[in-house]
This record gives sequence, structure tokens and C-alpha cells, in this order.
Amino acid sequence: MTETAAVSVAVETPRYSGVGGLLDYACEQPLTPGTLVRVPLGRRDLPGIVWQRAVNAPPAPPELRPLAAVLTALPPLAPEWRELVDFAAAYYQRGVGELALAVLPPDLRKLDDTRLARRLARLERAPAKATAATEPPARPELNAEQSAALSALAGADRPVLLHGVTGSGKTEVYLRAAEAALLKGRQALVLVPEINLTPQLEARFAERFPGHVMVSLHSGLTPAQRLRHWLLAHLGHADLVLGTRLAVFASMPRLGLIVVDEEHDPSFKQQEGARYSARDLAVWRAHRLGVTVLLGSATPSLETWQRALEGRYLRLALDSRIGGGAMPAVRLIDMTRLPREAQQERVLAPPLLTAITERIERGEQSLLLLNRRGYAPVLHCSACGWKSGCPHCSAWRVFHKADRTLRCHHCGLSERVPRACPDCGNLDIAPLGRGTEKLQEQLAALLPGARVARLDADSTRGAGVLQQQLGAVHAGEVDVLVGTQMLAKGHDFRRVTLVAAVNPDAALFSSDFRAPERLFALLMQAAGRAGRDAAQAARSEMWVQTWHPRHPLYAALRAHDYEAYAAAQLAERRAAGLPPFASLALLRAEARTVEAARAFLNDASALAAAHEGVTVYPPVPPPVSKVADVERFQMLVESASRVALQRMLAAWLPGLHELRARHKGLLRWAVDVDPLAI
Ligand SMILES: [Zn+2]
Ligand SMILES: [Zn+2]
Repeated sequence: MTETAAVSVAVETPRYSGVGGLLDYACEQPLTPGTLVRVPLGRRDLPGIVWQRAVNAPPAPPELRPLAAVLTALPPLAPEWRELVDFAAAYYQRGVGELALAVLPPDLRKLDDTRLARRLARLERAPAKATAATEPPARPELNAEQSAALSALAGADRPVLLHGVTGSGKTEVYLRAAEAALLKGRQALVLVPEINLTPQLEARFAERFPGHVMVSLHSGLTPAQRLRHWLLAHLGHADLVLGTRLAVFASMPRLGLIVVDEEHDPSFKQQEGARYSARDLAVWRAHRLGVTVLLGSATPSLETWQRALEGRYLRLALDSRIGGGAMPAVRLIDMTRLPREAQQERVLAPPLLTAITERIERGEQSLLLLNRRGYAPVLHCSACGWKSGCPHCSAWRVFHKADRTLRCHHCGLSERVPRACPDCGNLDIAPLGRGTEKLQEQLAALLPGARVARLDADSTRGAGVLQQQLGAVHAGEVDVLVGTQMLAKGHDFRRVTLVAAVNPDAALFSSDFRAPERLFALLMQAAGRAGRDAAQAARSEMWVQTWHPRHPLYAALRAHDYEAYAAAQLAERRAAGLPPFASLALLRAEARTVEAARAFLNDASALAAAHEGVTVYPPVPPPVSKVADVERFQMLVESASRVALQRMLAAWLPGLHELRARHKGLLRWAVDVDPLAI
């Protein structure tokens, strides 16, 4: 008689269903941890991963239910991968099973053993659609800074910050580092903030490494593609994996290098479910494996910068642009000096308009940055004061002129623009303020004959539209390009010699303490779009229209002085006890009524009472407190010690799960560790 064994299985269940979300099952023979299985739960049949041998086994207690199926076709997930998931689940306060299953390709959870075996056989037959094995192109010569960075990188015993201005050749350093990893027979993982905006990076890797298999992992793939790419990485067939934040969880048995490009970008933080930071997990994973992690940025996050200052990260600098191009001269336009009526009516200050006109005459391009899409942020009735609020959110509905709609950017509600004021019948309702659509229209009127295009989330809807629009810019079919922050990200525009921020001041006075950091990064990145072509660099300019020309942020921008800016910001953060000098977590609650959301947080606060070194602040509404008829409230938890905060959260969370059962009016709650927006 064979003795029945028992295993603990990670299953996608809510956290309160068991310690750490693991459930015990009986099985015929001991299974290797990391094996995919299917398990019965209630009347359902769910996918799971064998996480460990059950604590009290063998023999399995007779009441344990047997596994429904074992997927033997797939090689088990490695201990290293399970440790990463264990760490992330514990740190971000989620269930192990919930996180483990969520980061696998959706199709992997659906296939049975037979179909999975067939997929794998097909991959083995045609394993690698390697890039057409032509001769690798001649590699560009490295400059002195790049060479120094690479030799320091080779001996680095810490995470490496590659701090280099736009155009300083960071990508070449990534390529050489990847090459070194591939030569050692290792895999390289490259994380980018938004894969749709970086086809150029993908192309450069593909071109540099013909004969090697490169796969991408991001949410834009079809489920079948995503499974195929994931399997190629997991089986070790893919040498290079290029992906967005979810790729940090790629199973890679020979992982030897992780690159995080634009490490400061907020999109590395997952904003729902397990709210993990892919950048921070990349650092943890590399440390655990003893491999190099390379964080690249022109404007590092203040967390990363502080670690570099403390020597916990190794800072490697690329200070000059390739080809000797200079950074554009920054010109601040003091809007308070314009005549009053000009401030109201003029789209652009006259000297800026002149500068753009000169560019057009010379056949050069200009980029105009306005971080607000739509035509106008709100419609307004001058007779009764009505404004186009969203009935379901605490936000205005934005006027989109192209399709004559009022759209809520929070809940998606879209309606035809009313002919008259819905409150008083006045026919004269007018847009207030300006979005990219209106700026484009005004510029077309001010610059007769100029080709003015727009790039934002509205103009690029639909497959291939973004590439088409970028193609037109590259081909020189556009004189002036208006757009949101999308403009600033990674595009290599060769003919741009002028970049202007039309109205960036709002972020200076935001309630979000990270808003200035993000604005500075955005403006530096935008400035980097100008003068990529060294021949034009000398006459490249960045213009900023501001009502606060003496603000230190703009002074640092003018000097292209990230370090001075970071030092000033860090001093403020230190004085205020904010990250990176403190650790934060945010408890969010959502309910139909403000009272229900607040009541949950108040009870949660009482539960948190006595944790030394941890401060729990009173519940407050977030900046947009109501979305789609759901009221939101949040509560900040802060500690000078990350360890103390983690200890407190681990002790607090089980109580919150119990508390939730007593708050019937509550819809959802979640804890966000290291929140990016508060
Ligand atoms: Zn009215
Ligand atoms: Zn809404």
C-alpha cells in the first residue's frame, strides 16, 4: 500500500482562507515544489502551484482532499521564483497564491496537461524564432564615460545606478552589459516603463543580437503570445526578455542581468491588486541571485538617488551627450510680465510664438507639452454658474470638441454636449481653460500654413495609430507637435530643436508631495527631446511659460542640475519625515457612502493603536474622492523604520480581514505599501 503524501498548494483565494493563502491537499506521490496542479475547492476546480511539502506530512490526514490533476508537462517553477513571490506577497501584504497565479500568463492557468504538453512539444520543434541570423552590426565605439561605466559594472557588488542625461548613450551600456551576460550563457531581463513607446529599444536589441531569441512580455500581447513568450523564458530558450513591470516575475532559470530603464517612471508601480514596485522587486531579485541590476535614468527617483548617496547603490555617471551635443538652453517666460489681457487670451507668449515661427521657416520641428487632454477641462455657464461636473465623480467632465462630447476621465461617462445650460437654458455655455485639442486648434489659427499635429491618449486610440503618427513626425510631415507627457517619453525625434512647456505650474503646488519630483523629471525628459541631432544641438531650446519664474525647480532645470534639485528636495523630505527618510503605507477604503468608508478606517485605526514607532494618521479623502458613485477614503501609516512598518502591517492585516466582515457597507479595502500617490 502506498502512503499518501500531502502538499501545500498556492491557490488564488482571498487571503483569509488560510495562513499565507496556502491550502493542503493529498497526493499519491511526493511532488516537487513549483509543480503546476489543479485542485478542488468547494465545488470548483482551480489552478494551483505546489508550494511546499505540507507541514504535518506524511502521512496526510485522511480528511485532506486529493489533487484534481498534476501538470507534469511543465518543468516546476524554480525555488528562486517562489522566493521572489513569497517576498513580494509578504512585503505588499497579499496572499501568496493570489500573487503567484496573478503573475502567470492567463492561458497557463487554463490548459490541461495534454494541451500543455502539445504546446511545449511545438515549442521544442520550432524553439526559436531567433532574429534572422545576419551579421551583427558594427558596434559603436564607446566613449570614455561608457567604457568606465562598463568596467565598473563588471565588478559591481551592489545595485548600479546608471545616471545619464538623455542622449548620453545609456542604451549602449545596456546592450554591452546584456552581451556580457549572454556570453556567459546567462539570460538578461530588460524592464521598460511602457513597451508601446519603446519599439526602438526592442529593435536595437534585436539588431544587436541576431541568432539569440528575444521575447517580450507585456499586457499588449494576445494570451497565446504571452504564454508562448513566457514558456520560452521559463524553458531557458529565450536569452533576452524585454517587458513592462509584470515581466519582473518572468521565470528565467539562467537569469544573469536585470536592467530597469527609466527607473524613476511611476508606471513601474502596479496600481491594483498586489501593488508591487517592479523596480524594487528587480533590485531584490538581483540581490538574491547575486547578479547585476542596472537602474538607468536621467532623473533618478529620490529613493534611488538617496541610496546612491549613501553608497548602497553604485552610481555611474554619463554626463555628456553622444556626439558632443549640448543640452538645450532653457528659457523661462515670466507670464506675470505679459499685459493682463495677453495672459488671459494669448495661447503663447509672443517671443515663444516668434521662436516657433523661425523653426518652421528653417524646416525644424517644435514640441509643445500640455499635460491636459481634451479641448477644455470644463464647460461653464456664465449666466447661472453651472459647470460640467460628473454626476458620479467628484471631478469635472472634460469637453472634447472633435466628437462634441463631455467625458469623465475617471469613470468614462460620455455624453453629447448639451445645446444649452441644463440648469437655466442659457445658450451661451463656454469652455474654461485649455487642453491639447484647443491648443492644437489655436496654434493652427496662429500659424497659418503650419502643419500642427497632436499626440495624446485620444489621438492615438486604435492599433498602429501611434506608430503612424510618430512616423509622420520622423518623416518631417509635422511642423509643430502638441501633446501630453506621452511626448516626452523616449521618442528619438531628430529634427526637434524647440520644446515648450505651456503651463506646467500646477504641479508646483500639488498636495501630492511627489508632484514636483515628477514635474522635474518630465521637463528634463522633454528637454532631452530637443537637439538629439548634434548638428542642431547648439540652437536647441526649451521654453517654459510660468507664473513663478523664480521657483527653485525652474532654476535647477535651467542649469540642467539634477543633483542640486535632488539635494533641495531631499532636504525638504528629510525635514518633513517623508520618503526616502520614512516608509509609508496607505489603507484605502471604498464604499457607497462617505460614512461607511470612514467608519471602516476609524475602526482600523483603533486596531492599530499600540505599535511603537508607527504613526497612523486620521482618515482623509483622496484628491478625487468619488469615482463612479463610489466614495473613497484613505489613511496614511508612516514609520521612520521600514522594518517597524512591515512588522506593524503583518500584525494589523489579519484584524482588518476580520473587521471587514463587520462592515457591510464597505465595498473594498486595500493596503498600498510604498504608495506613489497620496
Ligand atoms: Zn446656466
Ligand atoms: Zn465620472
